[in-house]
Amino acid sequence: MWWGIAIAVGGSLLVIVTPMVIDWMFVSGATDEGQGVHAAVEVVLSAAASVLPPLGAALIGAAIVMVYLERYGYARIDGAADETAGETAMLLGPVRRSLLVMTRRSAVTVTPVRVATLLAGKEQMPVYVHIIDHPGGRVLVDTGMTDLHPAVADMDPRFEPLTERSIELDSITAVVNTHLHFDHCGGNHLFAGRPIYVQRQELEDARTQDDYTIREWVDAAGVYYVEVDGEFEPLPGVRLLPAPGHTRGSQIVVVETDDGSVVIAGDTAVWFGELDEPATEGQRLIRSLNPHEVWLAHVAEPWVAGSPGGNTA
Ligand SMILES: [Zn+2]
Repeated sequence: MWWGIAIAVGGSLLVIVTPMVIDWMFVSGATDEGQGVHAAVEVVLSAAASVLPPLGAALIGAAIVMVYLERYGYARIDGAADETAGETAMLLGPVRRSLLVMTRRSAVTVTPVRVATLLAGKEQMPVYVHIIDHPGGRVLVDTGMTDLHPAVADMDPRFEPLTERSIELDSITAVVNTHLHFDHCGGNHLFAGRPIYVQRQELEDARTQDDYTIREWVDAAGVYYVEVDGEFEPLPGVRLLPAPGHTRGSQIVVVETDDGSVVIAGDTAVWFGELDEPATEGQRLIRSLNPHEVWLAHVAEPWVAGSPGGNTA
């Protein structure tokens, strides 16, 4: 019976949602309609996978792919050289996602991964990215940096590349940039072809203001952005909230877990003292959420309410 309901709901969702998403979707930086629609399909499948049983999600996925192929012919994704390769890539996505839903435990978790170390004055400054594991997908928040660049040579970057970890980069279904400073978007190129969520203001500033970031890392080949204006919930219980302060287009990610709200703050606070005594709109927003813990981009441990200054950067 539950399968029947799932299939009925799935079918209705498909009929109602697919045309809306396909017509609505505008993806910044997508070089053609097919690429933009591919990002839209990813969003729909992630949502379907998170609320329906695996079979329902798989059926929706398969149906969306059929509509997609019917309308757009082969998907020119992941550098597919021809129609067969494009269709294969397109069909494997929903299958992979359904398998992930079936095999992954349902708890939502946030895991820090150190990807680089910078020299800030005489201080060693670690660079962390964060992985959100959610039944509906695996989201990477910020991408660190992967390459040397003359503009930041004086910071003596040392790398611990994501590509050399046990992390399956293929398992990342979406990326969020808290902001676009070079140490937060330098790995975006690793995720060409997948949606990267960023605030519209942040992208505009990064593309137009001098000395803002390393611009060729922002618009590396194949990278495309889903621009967000204000609040957005890419997965149930995973919310993007604008948090001006460090930059005016900064956003934080709020993740509902069994333990409470976990915030991934980027550089909205750079060290714990900035959360102990919040001074910017973004910092005050974080405190107003009464988070269980707050992960910063340059500190190994999370800030925890009630133990101010308990850890140092
Ligand atoms: Zn930073």
